[in-house]
Amino acid sequence: MFNTLQDRLSATFKGLRGKGRLSDSDIDAAARELRVALLEADVALPVVREFVAAVRERAKSPEVQQSVNPAQRVLDIVNEELIAILGGEARRIRLAKTPPTVIMLAGLQGAGKTTLAGKLARWLRGQGHQPLLVACDLQRPNAVNQLQIVAERAGSAFFGPEPGNGVGDPVDVARRAVAYAREKQHDVVVVDTAGRLGIDAELMQQAADIRDAVKPDETLFVVDAMIGQDAVVTAQAFLDGVGFDGVVLTKLDGDARGGAALSVAKVTGRQVMFASNGEKLDDFDVFHPDRMASRILD
Ligand code: GDP
Repeated sequence: MFNTLQDRLSATFKGLRGKGRLSDSDIDAAARELRVALLEADVALPVVREFVAAVRERAKSPEVQQSVNPAQRVLDIVNEELIAILGGEARRIRLAKTPPTVIMLAGLQGAGKTTLAGKLARWLRGQGHQPLLVACDLQRPNAVNQLQIVAERAGSAFFGPEPGNGVGDPVDVARRAVAYAREKQHDVVVVDTAGRLGIDAELMQQAADIRDAVKPDETLFVVDAMIGQDAVVTAQAFLDGVGFDGVVLTKLDGDARGGAALSVAKVTGRQVMFASNGEKLDDFDVFHPDRMASRILD
């Protein structure tokens, strides 16, 4: 029983050490192992295909052919290619030249947006910012209240629809929130938007309207790592419907191997910027492509 890709490749290449050349069938065997490992990590099939083809191509190069330990060399290449797709270095939030910086969160209901808003607020405070959390999820009855509680816990200011004013218009709330932030010197505004359990044209339009009203400096697509291959379909729908600049992967404390990170990054060309790994406010970090690469290969 081989657990990691490292074990699998070592077994595949057993006896090759010092042989000096990988045959086509050695490379085929390695490609098969790589394919299985990526599928087990829940990487989407088209991404697996393209990735394996790229590694196979590199494995035929003289550099690998003549290496002393081909298994290790192929593994290094896999690692390098994974990190390259995941974006190399973690990207920082782009701050607006004139505050406030507006960050908009979009994603399906249950993805972890509200929780993330609190985590981001705490993290931003740690970086010396004065965030304002804005409730524009007026769809789910308890969402406004939930965000207010999260804001309090994170020690962040909060802005929501005026009480007793009916359901309210999320675009109007967002617009007023930015004006309020300017007035009260909150330098970062985090806008939480509504999501449905499935992709929904009306809510997608609502998010697009909020985007047009407040022109976010960063729109972050929030996605649950546990949804695995479905992440690609959802990401594509949000890219087409709202557009986004970066990705936040949530629920990485679950047993997902993280293939969603690779698939979403590859298919959308947007980097994963943050990782959420628990329900507590501190269960949050900037995303580390190298750590994710080893998680996918594990
Ligand atoms: P939203 O509908 O996108 O705003 O999602 P919520 O923030 O309300 O999160 C939905 C559920 O997932 C809640 O029960 C959260 O406590 C939980 N949750 C959010 N982020 C994480 C995470 O990183 N790990 C775990 N285990 N649970 C999370």
